[in-house]
Amino acid sequence: MLIIDAHLDLAMNALEWNRDLKMTVPEIRRRETGMNDKPDRGKGTVSLPQLREGNVGLVVATQIARFVSADNPLPGWHSPEQAWAQTQGQLAWYKAMEEEGEMMQIRDRRSLEIHLAYWENEARNEHKTIGYILSLEGADSIITPGYAERAYEYGLRAIGPAHYGPGRYANGTDSVGEMGKNGLDLLKVMERLHMILDVTHLCDDAFWQALKHFRGAIWASHNNCRALVDHNRQYSDEQLKALIERKAVMGAAFDNWMLVPEWKRGVSTPSGMNCGLEKVIDHIDHICQLAGNAEHVAIGSDLDGAFGKEQCPFDLETIADLQKIPALLMKRGYSSEEIAGIMHGNWLRFLREAWNES
Ligand SMILES: [Zn+2]
Repeated sequence: MLIIDAHLDLAMNALEWNRDLKMTVPEIRRRETGMNDKPDRGKGTVSLPQLREGNVGLVVATQIARFVSADNPLPGWHSPEQAWAQTQGQLAWYKAMEEEGEMMQIRDRRSLEIHLAYWENEARNEHKTIGYILSLEGADSIITPGYAERAYEYGLRAIGPAHYGPGRYANGTDSVGEMGKNGLDLLKVMERLHMILDVTHLCDDAFWQALKHFRGAIWASHNNCRALVDHNRQYSDEQLKALIERKAVMGAAFDNWMLVPEWKRGVSTPSGMNCGLEKVIDHIDHICQLAGNAEHVAIGSDLDGAFGKEQCPFDLETIADLQKIPALLMKRGYSSEEIAGIMHGNWLRFLREAWNES
C-alpha cells in the first residue's frame, strides 16, 4: 500500500548528521560505528532505499534552522541570516537529489497527480523517484516575511511558524504567549500564497490565535494526543476537535516520548516501556473516536528527527516497517477504506483541496 509520511527531516540528517541518504540504513549505521557525538548514532531508521522498500512514495520533507537570542539556552543560530543560509544548504541537497533522480519536488496539483500515476505504474525498483513536498519547521530563518515569497518560488509549500521555545514569529513547544505583528504578518503572506499552515509545535496561545486569524489550509504534520501523554507538545481533545472542524489532518508521530507517558530520554528503552507500534495506533484511534470517522489522521512519523532506534517503537527497525500499520489497524476493526485513508488517502484529499486552484 502507498504510504505518505508528512514529516521527515531528510536534509537535516544529510547535513547535520552527515548521513548519505542514498545509502541503505544498515550501511549508514555501519558508517557511524564508533561515533558518539549524538545519542542516535548508528541507530538511524530512514534512508531513500528504505522509503522505497516501504512504498513510501511521497513525503513532506523539511528545512529547519532555529535562531536563538543570547538568553535562549536551546541550540541554534545567532542570527536569522545564518539560519536562512542553513536552510539554503538544505535546499541545495534536495536539489542535488532531484538531479540524480532520487527525489522529485511536488509543488502543485498537477505535479502531485503526475507523481501518483508514476508511482503506481512504475514497477518496484531501486531507483524509483520519491516525491517530496517542501516544508519549513520553525520560521526563524525567514529573515522578513518577504523571504517567504522567495521560498515559495523555490517550492516551499508549508510553514510551521514555531519549533521549540521562543521563536521570531511564534512561540513553540514548552513556551507560551500569543504571536505579535511579525507572526500575524507571516500568516497573511502565507494565506496569500496559499501555503499550508503547519500548527505542529505552536504553543497553545499561538495555536488558538492562528486558528482564529488564518483562513487557509491547516495541517498538523506530526502530533499526538495530550489525553494519552500529557504534555504541551501534544493536542488536547479541545484542540483536536477544533482541527477536525477546520478539516485538518494530523500526522501521527513515532517518537516514543510522545507515545507513552513517563518516557525518560536516554534512560527508558522501547521494550522496557512496552512501546511498540500498537501505541501509535492508540493515538490514531483516539483522534478517530473524537472525529467519529477516520478522515483526520494519517502518518507524520518524524523518524530520525534527532532520535533513532533507541527512542522509536521496538517493532520498527526501519521506516519500511510503516507497512506494519495497516494490519494493526485492521486488528482494531478499521475497514480497508479507512486504512487506505490513514496510510495515504487523507493527505491526498487534503492536498487536492488545498491545491485546487493551482
Ligand atoms: Zn518537530
